[in-house]
Amino acid sequence: IPDLAYAESLIAETPDYPEPGVLFRDISPLLADPRAMRATFEALVEPFRGEFDVVGGIEARGFLLAGYVAAVEGVGMLPIRKAGKLPRPAAAVSYALEYGTATIEAPGVLWPGARVLLVDDVLATGGTIAAAREIITQLGATVAGAAVILELDGLGGRAVAGDLHTVFTA
Ligand code: 5GP
Repeated sequence: IPDLAYAESLIAETPDYPEPGVLFRDISPLLADPRAMRATFEALVEPFRGEFDVVGGIEARGFLLAGYVAAVEGVGMLPIRKAGKLPRPAAAVSYALEYGTATIEAPGVLWPGARVLLVDDVLATGGTIAAAREIITQLGATVAGAAVILELDGLGGRAVAGDLHTVFTA
């Protein structure tokens, strides 16, 4: 079985989590397997190789991806955090969730025009990636692209998130 097909088979599905009617996808088994993890992360960054200076990871699971990408690609890392965690955020964006709103923030550590690749584990409605794009703009940097491991089809997320690279679709 090819590495990527094997990796996809490891994504776990939990019905009715975190609430009834939601089928939650968990990439933890994929991360725990070296062959699956390497193949997936290679496929995640491949279209953008050489085209970004910094990888932006969205708290919390995006941090796992961004740390790996930064180390392997030899680029910097920008933590995009949930509200209230940073002493002096330089950018903040609020966006709609299914119920209520969320806010993400980032530190002012980028140089003007820095090319940032955004990464996250799962794309659902696309609101998180769209907000992260706005964060990068507020910082005076440039979005080199956005990549997620798994896109949940049928939620309209792609239209909201903008141009996007995905490894798997479900
Ligand atoms: P969106 O903003 O696209 O609706 O939601 C994406 C965010 O919610 C991502 O940060 C992602 O980690 C999280 N998320 C939404 N659905 C799932 C899911 O089924 N599994 C996981 N692991 N994360 C999810």
